[in-house]
Amino acid sequence: MLHRQSAADQAQQTRVQRNLAPADVRLLERIATTATRRYRFPAMLENEFQTYVRAATRTARICLGLITLLMFVCAPAWVPLSLGEPPLMTRPMHWIELGVMAPLFAAVCLVQARYIASDLSEWLLILAFLLEVVCIEVIVHLADGIGYPLEPSLSVIIPVSIIILARMRIARCLLFVGLYLAIVVLTGWLWPNHLNLRSPTGWLMEILLLSIALLGAAWSKLSFRRQWASNLLLELMAYRDSLTALPNRRALEDHYHVLSQALARGQKKHLIFALIDLDHFKLINDSYGHEYGDGVLVEVGLTLAQFARRPLDIAARVGGEEFALILHDCDAAAGEERLERLLQSIRGLRIEHKAHEGGVVTCSIGAAALGPGHSLHDVYRAADECLYQAKREGRDRLRLVGIDSPAQGSPESAVA
Ligand code: GH3
Ligand code: MG
Ligand code: MG
Repeated sequence: MLHRQSAADQAQQTRVQRNLAPADVRLLERIATTATRRYRFPAMLENEFQTYVRAATRTARICLGLITLLMFVCAPAWVPLSLGEPPLMTRPMHWIELGVMAPLFAAVCLVQARYIASDLSEWLLILAFLLEVVCIEVIVHLADGIGYPLEPSLSVIIPVSIIILARMRIARCLLFVGLYLAIVVLTGWLWPNHLNLRSPTGWLMEILLLSIALLGAAWSKLSFRRQWASNLLLELMAYRDSLTALPNRRALEDHYHVLSQALARGQKKHLIFALIDLDHFKLINDSYGHEYGDGVLVEVGLTLAQFARRPLDIAARVGGEEFALILHDCDAAAGEERLERLLQSIRGLRIEHKAHEGGVVTCSIGAAALGPGHSLHDVYRAADECLYQAKREGRDRLRLVGIDSPAQGSPESAVA
């Protein structure tokens, strides 16, 4: 898998590193299966969901801005032709259309295109379209003032298209509709004749239209949430080991790609790739049973996770009793020190293993300290060779090799 963009890298990283509490996972399951009336995610996920919705509706929001921009830019050409606008109206209208609204919507398009991840992009959208409502109300009033009535319900198109296309959260849609009605009522209060232009049927049509659009939006947002919760659960299953809850081999591979891209870009200089294999694990199963063995794997997994607490480090279960640890931005000396501490920590768990010398569970570690330009295959092979060396030399020890240039795919020097 290629990771060319840092945004893609970040998405990947979030996926691999996401660590949800069991209660959050249960809530996701209930939302996905409609077993709850609750639809809000826990705070961290709710933010992620809102960012996802904004990104998913980016094109629709840009189109909405572009259509409005085009409408204002071309207004001097099409308004007199289609509406038969009287000459008295021309100058103030063109000033509003070209001088205020067109630049505003050009900015809206730009912000939606470049800063959609920011919540502020949505507030700008809300503000711009509310100004458009004001602008249309003013135009209708100006036209009314010179005895030229325009369709008074013209502006209802704005909240309806915002609700349907921009897919903002429902509370903001309601806020938008509330402010829209406030503007209409306020302009009606300022210019009483203007309010009278809306007939009771016009009001009824507007209220019905807005209610239908809001109901449709709420319903589709609910399905969107359920779909997102299901995808998240699938992702969790695909990237986690079910016994230890550590990231699995697939997660490790993806994460290595992300980190090696960062190395290639020169953002980081070194990383440590370590394979950790429990010693004489088969004898644990034979002596104490498979269930005890599973418990040992869980305990070791918890200890290992403590060694990968920085955001870009990762501890994964890659096979039966084999784990991997990647420490980013860590050179050979620092890596050696941390991995020696890991050996001690696992020994220090003092998990009984009578069939093994020393009577407690231990592990052997093979590691590679590397710079940019190495494939995971080469790094894995180098660490694996070190692991076998550690096993041959008596187990419960670390062997670490430095592989600095891509040409040196195999171990060149054992550091420890
Ligand atoms: P060495 O010190 O050379 O690594 O010896 P070992 O016994 O640890 O290695 P070996 O590869 O011979 O045995 C690994 C054992 O791990 C065999 C398998 O039954 C056990 N195993 C693999 N996956 C699991 C698991 O999920 N749970 C349990 N309980 N045992 C597992
Ligand atoms: Mg083993
Ligand atoms: Mg093994």
